Amino acid sequence: MSRVIVVGGGWAGLAAAVELCCHHIPVLLLESAKQLGGRARSVSILDVQVDNGQHLMIGAYRDMLYLLNTLGIKEEDVFQRQALELIMKSPVNTNFCLKTPNLPAPIHLLWALTSAIGLSVKERWQAIRMSIQLALMPPVENDKPLSELLKRTGQSEQIIKKLWEPLCLSMLNTPIDMASSIVFKQVLQEVFSHHRHDSDLLIPRTDLGTLLPEPAHTYINQNGGEIRINHRVTELQIEKDRVTGIKLASGESIMTNHIVLATSDSACQRLLAPHPALASIAAKLAQFKHAPICTVYLRYRPDIQLESPMIGLLDTTAQWIFDRRITGNPGLMAVVISSVGPHMNLDNDELIEHVANEIASLYPHWPAPQEGHVIREKRATLLCQAGINALRPEHTTPVKGCWLAGDYTATGFPSVLEGAVRSGLNCARLIKNR
Ligand SMILES: Cc1cc2nc3c(=O)[nH]c(=O)nc-3n(C[C@H](O)[C@H](O)[C@H](O)COP(=O)(O)OP(=O)(O)OC[C@H]3O[C@@H](n4cnc5c(N)ncnc54)[C@H](O)[C@@H]3O)c2cc1C
Repeated sequence: MSRVIVVGGGWAGLAAAVELCCHHIPVLLLESAKQLGGRARSVSILDVQVDNGQHLMIGAYRDMLYLLNTLGIKEEDVFQRQALELIMKSPVNTNFCLKTPNLPAPIHLLWALTSAIGLSVKERWQAIRMSIQLALMPPVENDKPLSELLKRTGQSEQIIKKLWEPLCLSMLNTPIDMASSIVFKQVLQEVFSHHRHDSDLLIPRTDLGTLLPEPAHTYINQNGGEIRINHRVTELQIEKDRVTGIKLASGESIMTNHIVLATSDSACQRLLAPHPALASIAAKLAQFKHAPICTVYLRYRPDIQLESPMIGLLDTTAQWIFDRRITGNPGLMAVVISSVGPHMNLDNDELIEHVANEIASLYPHWPAPQEGHVIREKRATLLCQAGINALRPEHTTPVKGCWLAGDYTATGFPSVLEGAVRSGLNCARLIKNR
């Protein structure tokens, strides 16, 4: 077999390349940027190594854990695992807290809802009713925005604001009045219906580059593969519905019979569109919309810390605060704002001041932050709108040897790391089975 070419060195491409190497299949990975990791990479700011955006993983990320295991990484060295605990604080309203107990799934969820602090008895029953309704929802039912489903099951405004809205934003990065009920249901099922530990939070102890791209790079190099960064693929070469090679921006051509396209959906769309056999997939990809995520890093005195590694915020622009002490940076807080919102009208200095004031209203004894830095990822994820599953492509295409990986493919997850890794592994296994 000729070398498999993997286009894109995000988590999907790295997963594909590692799995191919693991099966002794020669691989060449081409990445257009100057570093690996794609949308989950490390950056240097405020004199420290942080992430392009704070990421959170969960116990249900089985393929990601499998990949790390292949690389010889022990889970406890890179993650702090803890039972799901949502502590949501508001400067103007009652706080909300939900914690899963040590009980089998899905009883742990029902118990967590029954004992949630900050909900009335009526609201707790509403939440349980909604969870059951989602569990029983047939998979083929016409997809509707989540807000419609919430209204249909009589969820109060308070419970939507305290529970469903933050969950939807953090899992789908999409406002509830647009979000796909079916994808929301799929994620809740992955997280709550199999094993109690699936809903555990996996909080990274390292920056994202150290977590996967660096060890994956070493593994690929040591197992017969090759990685070239700063190499942009500009053209797929296809003859008689069969892959024959690729062309690079430098003008160089490389022959191959197998290409795993592990780019973003938009880069993939540009590469597929000129080929008639792939035009219908490209037309679907062209319909995707994207959603931003903004991370505001604030550096406080090193003795300042949160009561938990992560706290949710209600009635504020800031949505989550992560204490980066866990990554060896005491006093550094990562404040996450998912999706679109009024923060987009503020410039970076204004946003830093605004978020710091919101935090001061919750933690009045904290001093002002010493410095801040904003990272705005404008196309962080797909906008996970109702009906999106009909647009997401499978890994196979009508062209022999052309495989699609990436968080936009039909993985059963929204566009998250687990979907990206799963898609890469799936492509590698499909190639191996050929
Ligand atoms: C700020 C932020 C926060 C997030 N938070 C979370 C979270 O908490 N939990 C979670 O699970 N997920 C989260 N995500 C989503 C997650 O990061 C993505 O789903 C995942 O990284 C996508 O990986 P990918 O490999 O599919 O795509 P990408 O990371 O986009 O990788 C594609 C790669 O292909 C390269 N490329 C593109 N075109 C070419 C070309 N022509 N030739 C060669 N190379 C090319 C790109 O440079 C890129 O490196 C977040 C994303 C962002 C941005």
